[in-house]
Amino acid sequence: MTALLIRNATLTDGRTDQDVFVESGNIRAIGPQLSAPPGVHEIDAQGWLLSPPFVDAHFHLDATLSYGLPRVNASGTLLEGIALWGELKPQLTQEALVERAMQYCDWAVAKGLLAIRSHVDVCDGRLLAVEALLHVKQRVAPYLDLQLVAFPQDGVLRSPTALANLKRALDLGVDVVGGIPHFERTAEQGAESVRVLCELAAERGLPVDMHCDESDDPMSRHIETLAFHTQRLGLHGRVTGSHLTSMHSMDNYYASKLIDLMYEAQVNAVANPLINITLQGRHDSYPKRRGMTRVPELMARGVPVGFGHDCVLDPWYSLGSADMLEVAHMGLHVAQMTSQAQMRACFDAVTVNNAHILGLAGYGIAEGHPADFVLLQARSPVEAIRLRAARLLVVRRGQVVAQCAPATAMLTLPGRPATIDWTLSR
Ligand SMILES: [Zn+2]
Repeated sequence: MTALLIRNATLTDGRTDQDVFVESGNIRAIGPQLSAPPGVHEIDAQGWLLSPPFVDAHFHLDATLSYGLPRVNASGTLLEGIALWGELKPQLTQEALVERAMQYCDWAVAKGLLAIRSHVDVCDGRLLAVEALLHVKQRVAPYLDLQLVAFPQDGVLRSPTALANLKRALDLGVDVVGGIPHFERTAEQGAESVRVLCELAAERGLPVDMHCDESDDPMSRHIETLAFHTQRLGLHGRVTGSHLTSMHSMDNYYASKLIDLMYEAQVNAVANPLINITLQGRHDSYPKRRGMTRVPELMARGVPVGFGHDCVLDPWYSLGSADMLEVAHMGLHVAQMTSQAQMRACFDAVTVNNAHILGLAGYGIAEGHPADFVLLQARSPVEAIRLRAARLLVVRRGQVVAQCAPATAMLTLPGRPATIDWTLSR
Protein backbone atom coordinates (compact mmCIF):
# COMPACT_ATOMS: atom_id res chain seq x y z
CA MET A 1 0.00 0.00 0.00
CA THR A 2 1.41 3.40 -0.96
CA ALA A 3 2.15 6.01 1.66
CA LEU A 4 0.46 9.39 1.52
CA LEU A 5 1.54 12.75 2.89
CA ILE A 6 -0.99 15.57 3.13
CA ARG A 7 0.83 18.92 3.40
CA ASN A 8 -0.35 22.24 4.90
CA ALA A 9 -3.76 21.30 6.21
CA THR A 10 -5.88 23.14 8.74
CA LEU A 11 -7.42 20.78 11.30
CA THR A 12 -10.85 21.10 12.89
CA ASP A 13 -9.27 22.02 16.24
CA GLY A 14 -7.80 25.13 14.60
CA ARG A 15 -4.20 23.94 14.13
CA THR A 16 -2.83 25.23 10.83
CA ASP A 17 0.07 24.19 8.57
CA GLN A 18 -0.23 20.56 9.63
CA ASP A 19 1.12 17.62 7.65
CA VAL A 20 -0.53 14.23 7.99
CA PHE A 21 1.50 11.14 7.15
CA VAL A 22 -0.41 8.00 6.24
CA GLU A 23 0.99 4.51 5.81
CA SER A 24 -0.71 1.12 5.49
CA GLY A 25 -4.11 2.75 5.88
CA ASN A 26 -3.36 4.42 9.20
CA ILE A 27 -2.30 7.89 10.32
CA ARG A 28 1.31 7.57 11.45
CA ALA A 29 2.23 11.17 12.22
CA ILE A 30 0.75 14.65 12.39
CA GLY A 31 2.79 17.83 12.67
CA PRO A 32 4.33 20.76 10.83
CA GLN A 33 6.81 20.07 8.03
CA LEU A 34 7.14 16.31 8.39
CA SER A 35 10.00 14.81 6.40
CA ALA A 36 8.85 12.87 3.37
CA PRO A 37 10.00 9.24 3.10
CA PRO A 38 11.12 8.24 -0.40
CA GLY A 39 8.33 7.35 -2.82
CA VAL A 40 5.57 8.94 -0.75
CA HIS A 41 2.65 10.48 -2.62
CA GLU A 42 2.37 14.14 -1.54
CA ILE A 43 -0.78 16.27 -1.73
CA ASP A 44 -0.73 19.98 -0.92
CA ALA A 45 -3.88 20.87 1.04
CA GLN A 46 -3.14 24.60 0.56
CA GLY A 47 -4.44 25.43 4.01
CA TRP A 48 -7.88 23.90 3.47
CA LEU A 49 -9.70 22.14 6.26
CA LEU A 50 -8.93 18.46 6.83
CA SER A 51 -11.85 16.98 8.74
CA PRO A 52 -12.76 13.51 9.88
CA PRO A 53 -15.41 12.15 7.49
CA PHE A 54 -19.08 12.99 7.88
CA VAL A 55 -21.27 10.47 9.67
CA ASP A 56 -25.03 10.15 9.27
CA ALA A 57 -26.76 8.83 12.40
CA HIS A 58 -30.18 8.41 10.83
CA PHE A 59 -31.08 7.36 7.30
CA HIS A 60 -33.43 5.13 5.30
CA LEU A 61 -31.41 3.43 2.60
CA ASP A 62 -34.29 1.11 1.61
CA ALA A 63 -36.53 4.02 0.60
CA THR A 64 -33.95 6.37 -0.86
CA LEU A 65 -34.10 7.48 -4.50
CA SER A 66 -37.63 6.09 -4.87
CA TYR A 67 -39.15 9.55 -5.32
CA GLY A 68 -42.33 9.40 -7.43
CA LEU A 69 -42.75 5.62 -7.03
CA PRO A 70 -45.61 4.90 -7.34
CA ARG A 71 -46.63 8.56 -6.83
CA VAL A 72 -45.58 11.69 -4.99
CA ASN A 73 -46.64 12.56 -1.40
CA ALA A 74 -49.39 15.15 -2.03
CA SER A 75 -50.02 16.34 1.53
CA GLY A 76 -46.34 16.32 2.53
CA THR A 77 -47.19 14.68 5.86
CA LEU A 78 -45.40 11.87 7.70
CA LEU A 79 -48.54 9.75 7.66
CA GLU A 80 -49.07 10.02 3.89
CA GLY A 81 -45.39 9.17 3.48
CA ILE A 82 -45.86 6.00 5.54
CA ALA A 83 -48.99 5.10 3.51
CA LEU A 84 -47.11 5.75 0.26
CA TRP A 85 -44.22 3.55 1.39
CA GLY A 86 -46.83 0.84 2.13
CA GLU A 87 -48.04 1.11 -1.49
CA LEU A 88 -44.51 0.85 -2.81
CA LYS A 89 -43.38 -2.09 -0.63
CA PRO A 90 -45.14 -4.90 -2.57
CA GLN A 91 -43.57 -3.62 -5.80
CA LEU A 92 -39.99 -3.57 -4.50
CA THR A 93 -37.43 -5.91 -5.96
CA GLN A 94 -34.14 -6.78 -4.40
CA GLU A 95 -32.28 -5.68 -7.50
CA ALA A 96 -33.86 -2.23 -7.51
CA LEU A 97 -33.27 -1.84 -3.76
CA VAL A 98 -29.60 -2.73 -4.12
CA GLU A 99 -29.14 -0.48 -7.12
CA ARG A 100 -30.67 2.57 -5.43
CA ALA A 101 -28.78 2.00 -2.19
CA MET A 102 -25.49 1.56 -4.08
CA GLN A 103 -26.11 4.78 -5.99
CA TYR A 104 -26.79 6.64 -2.75
CA CYS A 105 -23.57 5.24 -1.25
CA ASP A 106 -21.69 6.63 -4.29
CA TRP A 107 -23.18 10.05 -3.58
CA ALA A 108 -22.27 9.69 0.10
CA VAL A 109 -18.61 8.90 -0.62
CA ALA A 110 -18.39 11.84 -3.03
CA LYS A 111 -19.67 14.07 -0.22
CA GLY A 112 -17.17 12.69 2.32
CA LEU A 113 -19.90 10.78 4.17
CA LEU A 114 -18.22 7.51 5.14
CA ALA A 115 -20.49 6.06 7.85
CA ILE A 116 -24.28 5.74 7.83
CA ARG A 117 -26.74 4.25 10.30
CA SER A 118 -29.69 3.19 8.17
CA HIS A 119 -33.04 1.95 9.39
CA VAL A 120 -34.43 -0.91 7.33
CA ASP A 121 -38.12 -1.77 7.34
CA VAL A 122 -38.66 -5.31 8.64
CA CYS A 123 -42.45 -5.39 8.19
CA ASP A 124 -42.37 -7.06 4.79
CA GLY A 125 -42.50 -10.78 5.54
CA ARG A 126 -40.05 -11.49 2.70
CA LEU A 127 -37.43 -9.31 4.43
CA LEU A 128 -36.47 -8.20 0.96
CA ALA A 129 -35.06 -4.87 2.08
CA VAL A 130 -33.13 -6.49 4.93
CA GLU A 131 -31.44 -8.95 2.58
CA ALA A 132 -30.75 -6.22 0.04
CA LEU A 133 -29.15 -3.89 2.58
CA LEU A 134 -27.12 -6.66 4.21
CA HIS A 135 -25.74 -7.33 0.74
CA VAL A 136 -25.05 -3.61 0.21
CA LYS A 137 -23.38 -3.41 3.63
CA GLN A 138 -20.90 -6.06 2.57
CA ARG A 139 -20.27 -4.51 -0.83
CA VAL A 140 -19.58 -1.02 0.48
CA ALA A 141 -17.60 -2.15 3.55
CA PRO A 142 -14.20 -1.28 2.02
CA TYR A 143 -15.19 2.37 1.73
CA LEU A 144 -18.27 3.01 3.89
CA ASP A 145 -19.38 1.79 7.33
CA LEU A 146 -23.04 0.87 7.10
CA GLN A 147 -24.91 0.08 10.30
CA LEU A 148 -28.43 -1.33 10.02
CA VAL A 149 -31.37 -0.86 12.39
CA ALA A 150 -34.28 -3.34 12.35
CA PHE A 151 -37.14 -0.88 11.96
CA PRO A 152 -40.75 -2.06 12.36
CA GLN A 153 -42.29 0.74 10.27
CA ASP A 154 -45.89 -0.50 10.81
CA GLY A 155 -45.47 -0.81 14.59
CA VAL A 156 -43.90 -3.80 16.34
CA LEU A 157 -47.20 -4.52 18.16
CA ARG A 158 -49.62 -2.96 15.67
CA SER A 159 -48.41 -5.22 12.85
CA PRO A 160 -49.06 -8.86 13.79
CA THR A 161 -45.89 -10.22 12.20
CA ALA A 162 -43.49 -7.37 12.94
CA LEU A 163 -41.90 -8.72 16.11
CA ALA A 164 -41.15 -12.11 14.56
CA ASN A 165 -39.78 -10.41 11.44
CA LEU A 166 -37.66 -8.07 13.53
CA LYS A 167 -36.09 -11.00 15.38
CA ARG A 168 -35.40 -12.75 12.05
CA ALA A 169 -33.72 -9.59 10.80
CA LEU A 170 -31.49 -9.53 13.90
CA ASP A 171 -30.70 -13.22 13.34
CA LEU A 172 -29.59 -12.35 9.81
CA GLY A 173 -27.08 -9.81 11.17
CA VAL A 174 -28.90 -6.49 11.48
CA ASP A 175 -26.99 -4.50 14.10
CA VAL A 176 -29.48 -2.39 16.06
CA VAL A 177 -33.01 -2.78 17.50
CA GLY A 178 -35.45 -0.18 16.16
CA GLY A 179 -38.98 0.87 17.05
CA ILE A 180 -41.74 3.40 16.46
CA PRO A 181 -43.78 3.72 19.68
CA HIS A 182 -45.81 6.78 18.59
CA PHE A 183 -47.21 4.76 15.67
CA GLU A 184 -48.59 1.97 17.87
CA ARG A 185 -52.37 2.07 18.42
CA THR A 186 -52.38 3.64 21.89
CA ALA A 187 -49.93 5.37 24.20
CA GLU A 188 -50.00 2.22 26.38
CA GLN A 189 -49.10 0.04 23.41
CA GLY A 190 -46.35 2.49 22.53
CA ALA A 191 -44.89 2.19 26.03
CA GLU A 192 -45.24 -1.59 25.87
CA SER A 193 -43.37 -1.66 22.55
CA VAL A 194 -40.50 0.28 24.14
CA ARG A 195 -40.32 -2.26 26.99
CA VAL A 196 -40.40 -5.27 24.65
CA LEU A 197 -37.76 -3.85 22.31
CA CYS A 198 -35.39 -2.71 25.08
CA GLU A 199 -35.59 -6.15 26.69
CA LEU A 200 -34.86 -7.76 23.34
CA ALA A 201 -31.82 -5.52 22.92
CA ALA A 202 -30.61 -6.30 26.44
CA GLU A 203 -31.01 -10.02 25.83
CA ARG A 204 -29.02 -9.86 22.60
CA GLY A 205 -26.46 -7.29 23.73
CA LEU A 206 -27.46 -4.87 20.95
CA PRO A 207 -27.89 -1.10 20.77
CA VAL A 208 -31.33 0.50 20.41
CA ASP A 209 -32.34 3.31 18.07
CA MET A 210 -36.01 4.16 17.94
CA HIS A 211 -38.04 6.57 15.91
CA CYS A 212 -39.47 8.17 19.01
CA ASP A 213 -42.21 10.77 19.35
CA GLU A 214 -42.04 11.94 15.74
CA SER A 215 -45.18 13.91 16.37
CA ASP A 216 -46.35 17.43 17.23
CA ASP A 217 -48.39 15.99 20.10
CA PRO A 218 -46.83 17.27 23.35
CA MET A 219 -48.32 14.26 25.14
CA SER A 220 -46.25 11.86 23.03
CA ARG A 221 -43.80 11.02 25.81
CA HIS A 222 -42.25 7.70 24.82
CA ILE A 223 -38.77 9.13 25.23
CA GLU A 224 -39.45 9.15 28.98
CA THR A 225 -40.26 5.43 28.84
CA LEU A 226 -37.21 4.82 26.66
CA ALA A 227 -34.96 6.56 29.21
CA PHE A 228 -36.63 4.57 32.01
CA HIS A 229 -36.03 1.14 30.42
CA THR A 230 -32.52 2.19 29.41
CA GLN A 231 -31.73 2.72 33.08
CA ARG A 232 -33.68 -0.28 34.32
CA LEU A 233 -31.85 -2.65 31.97
CA GLY A 234 -28.44 -0.99 32.28
CA LEU A 235 -28.33 -0.01 28.61
CA HIS A 236 -26.61 3.31 29.36
CA GLY A 237 -24.94 4.83 26.31
CA ARG A 238 -26.37 2.19 23.94
CA VAL A 239 -29.77 3.78 23.33
CA THR A 240 -30.76 6.52 20.89
CA GLY A 241 -34.01 8.40 20.54
CA SER A 242 -34.42 9.61 16.95
CA HIS A 243 -36.56 12.61 15.95
CA LEU A 244 -38.06 13.40 19.40
CA THR A 245 -40.04 16.17 17.73
CA SER A 246 -42.84 16.18 20.32
CA MET A 247 -40.27 17.70 22.70
CA HIS A 248 -40.58 20.88 20.63
CA SER A 249 -44.23 21.22 21.69
CA MET A 250 -43.90 20.06 25.29
CA ASP A 251 -44.48 22.14 28.34
CA ASN A 252 -41.15 23.70 29.43
CA TYR A 253 -41.40 22.39 32.98
CA TYR A 254 -41.91 18.80 31.86
CA ALA A 255 -39.16 19.10 29.23
CA SER A 256 -36.67 20.28 31.85
CA LYS A 257 -37.32 17.16 33.93
CA LEU A 258 -37.22 14.93 30.85
CA ILE A 259 -33.86 16.25 29.63
CA ASP A 260 -32.36 15.43 33.06
CA LEU A 261 -33.73 11.89 32.80
CA MET A 262 -32.22 11.47 29.35
CA TYR A 263 -28.89 12.69 30.65
CA GLU A 264 -29.00 10.29 33.62
CA ALA A 265 -29.79 7.35 31.32
CA GLN A 266 -27.11 8.45 28.82
CA VAL A 267 -29.62 8.32 26.00
CA ASN A 268 -28.44 9.85 22.71
CA ALA A 269 -30.68 12.15 20.71
CA VAL A 270 -30.81 12.46 16.92
CA ALA A 271 -32.59 15.35 15.21
CA ASN A 272 -33.27 15.27 11.49
CA PRO A 273 -33.45 18.98 10.63
CA LEU A 274 -34.32 18.78 6.91
CA ILE A 275 -37.14 16.34 7.53
CA ASN A 276 -38.40 17.71 10.85
CA ILE A 277 -38.82 21.21 9.42
CA THR A 278 -40.60 19.73 6.41
CA LEU A 279 -42.96 17.23 8.08
CA GLN A 280 -43.78 18.81 11.42
CA GLY A 281 -46.36 21.50 12.02
CA ARG A 282 -48.42 20.31 9.05
CA HIS A 283 -51.62 20.37 11.08
CA ASP A 284 -50.96 23.93 12.31
CA SER A 285 -52.40 27.05 10.80
CA TYR A 286 -50.37 30.08 11.96
CA PRO A 287 -48.12 30.30 13.84
CA LYS A 288 -46.62 27.03 12.56
CA ARG A 289 -44.34 25.09 14.86
CA ARG A 290 -40.84 24.23 13.66
CA GLY A 291 -41.07 20.80 15.23
CA MET A 292 -37.37 20.00 15.66
CA THR A 293 -36.39 18.66 19.08
CA ARG A 294 -34.68 20.91 21.68
CA VAL A 295 -31.16 20.62 20.31
CA PRO A 296 -29.38 23.45 22.18
CA GLU A 297 -31.02 22.54 25.51
CA LEU A 298 -30.10 18.85 25.13
CA MET A 299 -26.53 19.76 24.19
CA ALA A 300 -26.24 22.18 27.12
CA ARG A 301 -27.26 19.38 29.50
CA GLY A 302 -24.60 17.06 28.05
CA VAL A 303 -26.89 14.73 26.08
CA PRO A 304 -25.02 13.59 22.95
CA VAL A 305 -26.94 15.07 20.00
CA GLY A 306 -26.41 14.09 16.39
CA PHE A 307 -28.06 15.23 13.16
CA GLY A 308 -29.33 12.80 10.54
CA HIS A 309 -30.20 13.26 6.88
CA ASP A 310 -33.09 10.78 7.30
CA CYS A 311 -34.45 10.93 3.75
CA VAL A 312 -33.29 11.71 0.22
CA LEU A 313 -35.73 11.56 -2.70
CA ASP A 314 -38.26 9.25 -1.08
CA PRO A 315 -41.93 9.24 0.04
CA TRP A 316 -41.13 11.74 2.81
CA TYR A 317 -38.67 14.15 1.21
CA SER A 318 -38.30 15.29 -2.37
CA LEU A 319 -34.80 16.78 -2.16
CA GLY A 320 -31.40 15.96 -0.63
CA SER A 321 -27.97 14.94 -1.88
CA ALA A 322 -26.08 13.07 0.88
CA ASP A 323 -24.59 16.39 1.97
CA MET A 324 -24.27 16.43 5.75
CA LEU A 325 -23.20 20.08 5.60
CA GLU A 326 -26.65 20.86 4.23
CA VAL A 327 -28.08 18.99 7.21
CA ALA A 328 -25.92 20.97 9.65
CA HIS A 329 -26.84 24.20 7.85
CA MET A 330 -30.56 23.51 8.24
CA GLY A 331 -30.15 22.37 11.86
CA LEU A 332 -28.33 25.57 12.73
CA HIS A 333 -31.14 27.68 11.25
CA VAL A 334 -34.07 25.76 12.69
CA ALA A 335 -32.53 25.70 16.18
CA GLN A 336 -31.31 29.32 15.87
CA MET A 337 -27.84 28.13 16.90
CA THR A 338 -26.03 31.17 15.55
CA SER A 339 -23.23 31.86 18.04
CA GLN A 340 -19.75 30.73 16.95
CA ALA A 341 -19.78 27.95 19.57
CA GLN A 342 -23.25 26.79 18.53
CA MET A 343 -22.43 26.79 14.81
CA ARG A 344 -19.35 24.76 15.64
CA ALA A 345 -21.55 22.39 17.67
CA CYS A 346 -23.67 21.85 14.54
CA PHE A 347 -20.53 20.73 12.67
CA ASP A 348 -19.84 18.28 15.51
CA ALA A 349 -23.45 17.03 15.17
CA VAL A 350 -22.65 15.65 11.71
CA THR A 351 -19.15 14.38 12.60
CA VAL A 352 -17.90 13.44 16.09
CA ASN A 353 -21.30 13.26 17.82
CA ASN A 354 -22.66 10.88 15.20
CA ALA A 355 -19.46 8.81 15.36
CA HIS A 356 -20.05 8.51 19.11
CA ILE A 357 -23.69 7.51 18.59
CA LEU A 358 -22.69 4.83 16.05
CA GLY A 359 -19.89 3.68 18.35
CA LEU A 360 -17.28 4.00 15.59
CA ALA A 361 -13.81 2.93 16.72
CA GLY A 362 -10.74 5.02 15.87
CA TYR A 363 -12.72 7.96 14.53
CA GLY A 364 -10.94 11.30 14.16
CA ILE A 365 -7.66 12.60 12.82
CA ALA A 366 -5.14 11.30 15.33
CA GLU A 367 -1.98 9.21 15.23
CA GLY A 368 -2.78 5.50 15.13
CA HIS A 369 -6.31 6.00 13.81
CA PRO A 370 -7.48 4.74 10.42
CA ALA A 371 -6.69 7.31 7.71
CA ASP A 372 -10.26 8.40 6.97
CA PHE A 373 -10.76 12.09 6.21
CA VAL A 374 -12.16 14.68 3.88
CA LEU A 375 -10.46 17.83 2.62
CA LEU A 376 -12.99 20.67 2.56
CA GLN A 377 -12.63 23.88 0.58
CA ALA A 378 -13.03 26.00 3.71
CA ARG A 379 -10.78 27.39 6.45
CA SER A 380 -12.87 26.33 9.43
CA PRO A 381 -15.84 24.10 10.34
CA VAL A 382 -18.20 27.09 10.45
CA GLU A 383 -17.03 28.22 7.02
CA ALA A 384 -17.57 24.67 5.76
CA ILE A 385 -21.21 24.90 6.85
CA ARG A 386 -21.64 28.38 5.38
CA LEU A 387 -20.31 27.32 1.98
CA ARG A 388 -21.47 23.67 2.02
CA ALA A 389 -17.81 23.43 1.04
CA ALA A 390 -16.56 21.37 -1.89
CA ARG A 391 -15.07 18.00 -0.95
CA LEU A 392 -11.68 18.39 -2.64
CA LEU A 393 -10.47 14.97 -1.53
CA VAL A 394 -12.01 12.03 0.30
CA VAL A 395 -9.68 9.41 1.79
CA ARG A 396 -10.66 6.06 3.27
CA ARG A 397 -8.03 3.83 4.93
CA GLY A 398 -5.33 5.85 3.19
CA GLN A 399 -6.81 5.53 -0.32
CA VAL A 400 -8.24 8.46 -2.25
CA VAL A 401 -11.84 7.40 -2.96
CA ALA A 402 -13.24 10.66 -4.35
CA GLN A 403 -12.00 14.00 -5.63
CA CYS A 404 -13.68 17.13 -6.83
CA ALA A 405 -12.55 20.39 -8.43
CA PRO A 406 -12.58 23.51 -6.24
CA ALA A 407 -15.77 25.55 -6.47
CA THR A 408 -14.95 28.80 -8.22
CA ALA A 409 -16.27 31.18 -10.83
CA MET A 410 -14.62 33.41 -13.42
CA LEU A 411 -15.53 37.08 -13.31
CA THR A 412 -15.33 39.49 -16.22
CA LEU A 413 -15.98 42.71 -14.31
CA PRO A 414 -13.69 45.73 -14.86
CA GLY A 415 -11.51 46.43 -11.84
CA ARG A 416 -12.56 43.25 -10.01
CA PRO A 417 -10.62 40.02 -9.51
CA ALA A 418 -10.88 37.41 -12.26
CA THR A 419 -11.79 34.56 -9.91
CA ILE A 420 -14.09 34.40 -6.93
CA ASP A 421 -12.65 33.76 -3.46
CA TRP A 422 -15.54 32.59 -1.29
CA THR A 423 -13.55 32.61 1.96
CA LEU A 424 -13.25 35.36 4.53
CA SER A 425 -9.49 35.97 4.49
CA ARG A 426 -8.87 37.01 8.09
ZN1 LIG B 1 -36.38 7.96 10.06
